[in-house]
Amino acid sequence: MALLVQKFGGTSVGSVKRIQAVAKRVASSRELGHELVIVVSAMGHTTDELTCLAEAISSNPPQREMDMLLATGEQVSIALLSIALHELGVQAISMTGSQVGIVTESSHGRARILEVKTERIKNRLEEGYVVVVAGFQGTSLSSGGTAEITTLGRGGSDTSAVALATALSADACEIYTDVPGVLTTDPRKVADAKLMPSLSCDEMLELASLGAAVLHPRAVELARNYGVKLKVRSSWTNDPGTTLTSESKRSLGRDGLELGRPVDGVELVEGQAVLGLSHVPDQPGVAADLFEKLSNAGVNVDLIIQATHEGNSNDITFTVNEEELPKARTICMSVLSQMGGELLAQSGMSKLSISGAGIMGRPGIAATLFDTLSRKGINLRLIATSEVKVSCVIDKSLGPKGMRAVGDAFELDEHQIQVNPGANGIGEPEVRGIALDPDQAQVSVRGVPDKPGTAAALCTALADAGISLDAIVQSERQQKDGSRDISFTLKKNDRQNAGKALAPLLAKWPGAQVEDGPEITRVSAVGAGMPATPGTAARMFRALAQAKINIAMIATSEIRTSCVVAKKDGLVALKAVHDCFKLGE
Ligand code: ADP
Ligand code: ASP
Ligand code: MG
Repeated sequence: MALLVQKFGGTSVGSVKRIQAVAKRVASSRELGHELVIVVSAMGHTTDELTCLAEAISSNPPQREMDMLLATGEQVSIALLSIALHELGVQAISMTGSQVGIVTESSHGRARILEVKTERIKNRLEEGYVVVVAGFQGTSLSSGGTAEITTLGRGGSDTSAVALATALSADACEIYTDVPGVLTTDPRKVADAKLMPSLSCDEMLELASLGAAVLHPRAVELARNYGVKLKVRSSWTNDPGTTLTSESKRSLGRDGLELGRPVDGVELVEGQAVLGLSHVPDQPGVAADLFEKLSNAGVNVDLIIQATHEGNSNDITFTVNEEELPKARTICMSVLSQMGGELLAQSGMSKLSISGAGIMGRPGIAATLFDTLSRKGINLRLIATSEVKVSCVIDKSLGPKGMRAVGDAFELDEHQIQVNPGANGIGEPEVRGIALDPDQAQVSVRGVPDKPGTAAALCTALADAGISLDAIVQSERQQKDGSRDISFTLKKNDRQNAGKALAPLLAKWPGAQVEDGPEITRVSAVGAGMPATPGTAARMFRALAQAKINIAMIATSEIRTSCVVAKKDGLVALKAVHDCFKLGE
């Protein structure tokens, strides 16, 4: 007999028939003797429909009232599922987030869970009830001490389920949905996507945040941090689905369930070289040619970053181990001699990274890193961000000083600080899954001063407004006045607020201006084996070039490579990349 938390998503409870089918499924699990906590979403498209109702009345409805409205969706499903269970003779009781005691922060519409009280649920389980809990909602204590209904953000029922599993120390958390599990990409977009029987929480965290909507990224973050056994399965079949694995197992602290320490390691990798190519042509195949040649020569490239700049030419920057610099330089020179452009190569660099599942969705973390380094007078040569890691390339002589400052800033212990750790991902697949994120916008800030603190100031201004940046790229080229460009991608919805947040900074930087890029989408490949496999990025770039797709921006981190392409090319790009790694076979 096990204690299981099972979550059923919107489509799985989309009609009376579906609710009855879920009830049958729950009844048979109950017959096996399991103790069950069932989390449900709102029926079908209810949350969208409720949002439309509010928007028909106001373009800017108060967040508190939106939460009051949206929370009703899940309340309908819990009651109906409990009624259906009673009909089958199963003792069941429904509870809203506040009845359970899912305590959250007060930020309406995107509240993080601080605590899940378990007493009421445990009592009911002991009495033999199946407890049916409303997903996506919680309750906060406002400053006046009165309880308020909050919601966790779209897709948040997954997070409710994993939070309950954590608090109850459940044996497993099963997410039942309308696909057989986690597939190599969205099966609605690529017909030959294949089921992954298992993958690591780190990989899933990247995929989920890069557009694979099958799991709420915060649910994966919780599962990773607390070692919850998480499965994704079809609510239509009895197939085993996908199991997510995680190594760490943190115990529940006092910081708040979803707020625990966001950073759990800092790492310094010395002996790095940076090669920056500027003014290369902005056309399909350029990145593919360059990185294929490097890969054929056995050069293992680490970070790659590219953005388009004024005059429609590209800057491409990448890092290699210092010993590979002569080989890499020769290859770059020969590529540049054919297509034009300039090279700046620099050895004596180090890569300083922070890691932790809590970096995601907390823009203040990257800002703190950049700010800490800039206060020590350390200039950032290159920045690479991902959901679980932020890396900066800095001068080697400043590495130890930077590392200590960052360790202090994030209150890390000695054992969480590593210098030149061994390679990761040996024996893992180079690419496990591909995600497409159509909700990104590309923005450039032209003419920012080239001095320590610029990136920090930009990220801090955006972080203070609650805006996360994805790729952030500094141009290689300098203007005559010594200024540079910084390009980044962010969520489309945040674009307007980003403009407001940056205005005070722009006023301080004479000549700097914000420019919107064309409509884009982002395609990303994720795999734990990527750092240990040379040529992964080159294969992805070649696949896009063969599909005649131009890459507007490239950003990599340890286990992912993302390319920004024109919106119209998104689906073709997704298929091309999925095919090139033979994921459908
Ligand atoms: P639920 O209502 O059950 O929470 P969601 O719509 O939130 O369901 O998530 C399931 C959907 O996620 C699938 O229907 C599928 O279209 C989409 N999806 C995107 N990427 C993937 C992927 N890599 N694997 C499986 N499904 C994916
Ligand atoms: N009903 C909410 C939504 O549609 C939460 C969820 O389904 O996870 O976003
Ligand atoms: Mg969902």
